[in-house]
Amino acid sequence: MKYKFCPKCGTKLIMRDSWDEGKVPYCPADDIMYFDLPKPCVVVAVIKDDQILLMKQSYIFKDSKVLVSGYVTNGETVEETVVREVKEETGITVDNIKYLGSDIVEKSELLMLTYMANYVKGEIKKSDEVEGVEWNNIEDALCQMKEDKIGKRVVRKVLKELGYKADRVYRCEFKAMQEV
Ligand SMILES: [Zn+2]
Repeated sequence: MKYKFCPKCGTKLIMRDSWDEGKVPYCPADDIMYFDLPKPCVVVAVIKDDQILLMKQSYIFKDSKVLVSGYVTNGETVEETVVREVKEETGITVDNIKYLGSDIVEKSELLMLTYMANYVKGEIKKSDEVEGVEWNNIEDALCQMKEDKIGKRVVRKVLKELGYKADRVYRCEFKAMQEV
């Protein structure tokens, strides 16, 4: 976030030299520099045999299912965020967390840290913030995630990790190609 005024006291920020980062907005009253940092969040593909956990959240994408995601909060490791967010949003317990790389959302300040994790136990028990949660066959996931570009990149990585072959994996895309 690029602040113009101090979020603590409201003083207009001045630009001050920081040794490594160049000019940085600074509040002389509080003696704080406001670096333009990204907001880290996690995206998690939860896997149970040949199934993947997908959610429906219309405020994110109207026509698309998404993976579990959430912000990293102060005081927790990113691995803890993964476990907490999956539990909070879906009621499912996971372990065997594997990092799949990072991604960014254009024109936003989000740094997406992407993971896959294995189902351990629990029945689906969605939070009130979520419209729906369900297990989907992983071979159909890409078709159901039309608008979720980052989610689809994560699913492709998961499919590769699981050793799926391309023509089987992208069943829906394969079908769509044949229909054209
Ligand atoms: Zn201030």
